[in-house]
Amino acid sequence: MTEKHAEKNVVIIGGGIAGLTAAAYLSRAGMDVHLFERHTQPGGYISSFSRRGFTFPAGPTSFGSNGIVFPILEELGLREKCRFIPASRQLNWNRHDNCHDLLLHSPAQVCDELSAIFPHERRSLRRYFRWVETGGRGFRGLFESGLMFSGGKGALGQGLRLWLHNPLFPWAMAVARGRTNRSLHARYFRDPELIRMLDGLGYPVMTAATTLGMWVSYFQDYHRPLGGMQTIADVFAQSVREHGGHIHLGQGVRRILIDHGTAAGVRLTDETEIRARWVVSAADMRSTFLDMIGREHLLPSLITKLERGRPSESIFAVYLGLDDSAEMAASLGRFQADHIFFRCADGEYLQAVLLSKDNPSIVPPGRHALWLGRFASCEPWHDLEGAAYRQRKEDEAQDLIRRGEELVPGLSRHIEVMETASPLTFERYTGNWRGASAGWNWDPADNPQIKPATDVELKNFYCAGHWTYSPGGVPSAMITAWYIAQEILHHWHMNPASISP
Ligand SMILES: Cc1cc2nc3c(=O)[nH]c(=O)nc-3n(C[C@H](O)[C@H](O)[C@H](O)COP(=O)(O)OP(=O)(O)OC[C@H]3O[C@@H](n4cnc5c(N)ncnc54)[C@H](O)[C@@H]3O)c2cc1C
Repeated sequence: MTEKHAEKNVVIIGGGIAGLTAAAYLSRAGMDVHLFERHTQPGGYISSFSRRGFTFPAGPTSFGSNGIVFPILEELGLREKCRFIPASRQLNWNRHDNCHDLLLHSPAQVCDELSAIFPHERRSLRRYFRWVETGGRGFRGLFESGLMFSGGKGALGQGLRLWLHNPLFPWAMAVARGRTNRSLHARYFRDPELIRMLDGLGYPVMTAATTLGMWVSYFQDYHRPLGGMQTIADVFAQSVREHGGHIHLGQGVRRILIDHGTAAGVRLTDETEIRARWVVSAADMRSTFLDMIGREHLLPSLITKLERGRPSESIFAVYLGLDDSAEMAASLGRFQADHIFFRCADGEYLQAVLLSKDNPSIVPPGRHALWLGRFASCEPWHDLEGAAYRQRKEDEAQDLIRRGEELVPGLSRHIEVMETASPLTFERYTGNWRGASAGWNWDPADNPQIKPATDVELKNFYCAGHWTYSPGGVPSAMITAWYIAQEILHHWHMNPASISP
């Protein structure tokens, strides 16, 4: 069946933050935008779900702006439509029967407190956190410079200004060059426990430059929207609609239509065909190329890259709605910050996030919402089905709760609502290959470095989202959408008449 309506300007596949960002820019400029999202609500990973009055985030519990998220919200006039509170972080672990709660405020403070716990690493900690401080200052300058939006234009001048204000930034970047978090920490430190803790703070393997960016975000740049992550997606969706754009929920795309090497529209899962001048995929990259476009239209080199790349780690998460008892409130007093990176008695780490801290609108009065999670590979889950899958999920959830009890005594006695998400859950709800949480693997050795602009020979087709820029995440998804929106608008302004039906 072919849609009777005239050719649309742009079809966008996927209503995660990347698709929504592209749609917001293009509709605001007056283009006829149609976004197709297979799920029944917008947001992808930044959507939320509710259970008996508790609201939980489907993916991230907070995000770093990285000089991208807030400038885009400002530019779109959406900054005042969401209210944000700072997300804070705390490390917690027992060492020699002493319990340590360490808030992440600043490099100097973390250095001092870690030095008290690991006195034999004092000098190395000082050197490491001098690098964090120096590099962090440079990163902040970079975020404030707007260089991310320059597309290379004027980059030299801006780069020089950045250097003048942060003369040691090149040194910090030189220290990071060619290194990962792991090789860097192994270079600075000897204590295996300290190394394990620092290695575990971000993705298992990531570049040392990303480690620097992580510290900057943890200290100053992590945010939570009041009301939950869905509020961001909803504000974007509303803006698209207010500007005449269309968001089609519950409508998946099966194929990208191709006429003589040019993207010409999409075929939906119900076989409806929508013709469009431009097609943007902000969905999973493998399924975009291998299923929606098809191998017959791809260069062999791209297929090799797709087969070689590994996804970023997935996550196993437990979402808990907790009662309003005095015991629970007392146990949760441990959360000075809303995010705790917690070392269990057996040395394993887990993340615990008190979602309702300073954010009471997401829970019934007096209650609490807690997120427990850890990285998980999709492989062990793949072949599980039915009862075996459910059993594995239950076992993993109970294991997380048991570990959570070390941090929050009595936790299991106060659970009113519980949901779990395995890597397969993330894959099922968002279409991200193997439940990848942030696009391709953050280990540079496993990232296939796919550049859709040059690796795909398909006119009028663009990719945005966390698979198209590494490391993935909310800011990457948004900046890639910003760039492709500028490019489409450039072509549209050059040749607007040809799109008229
Ligand atoms: C537990 C967790 C924690 C995270 N923590 C952080 C964090 O702290 N900071 C950070 O920056 N990032 C974090 N991330 C990553 C971040 O959430 C993602 O990188 C980002 O939201 C990806 O946005 P996106 O729009 O590129 O993709 P997605 O959010 O995956 O959106 C893609 C959309 O496309 C839709 N879709 C797929 N196929 C089709 C189709 N055929 N037809 C129509 N629609 C389709 C999907 O349903 C989905 O809505 C986290 C992720 C997870 C899971």
